[in-house]
Amino acid sequence: MTPKGKTPSLLSMSTGKPTIYVCKKKTKCTRCKEEVTMGDKCFRIPKSTSGFTSKKIFCVDCTDSIIGQTKIDISQIESEISTI
Ligand SMILES: [Zn+2]
Repeated sequence: MTPKGKTPSLLSMSTGKPTIYVCKKKTKCTRCKEEVTMGDKCFRIPKSTSGFTSKKIFCVDCTDSIIGQTKIDISQIESEISTI
């Protein structure tokens, strides 16, 4: 399933760094809704919603695109810094 909308960046959606995780049970990826099978590697990304931090499960592919988007965001900030 192809996720809809803009790829989120860690800068906007996360309150910490992604950590690798082996799924203890079949879990749906937060972004693409693809099922991560028990025993498969995935990532947990901490996300704060209304004061609570929950660790959301993301499949490896989605984590990869989120990291890619984060790099784009960071390079945009870097180029803004360099103009000061
Ligand atoms: Zn996914």
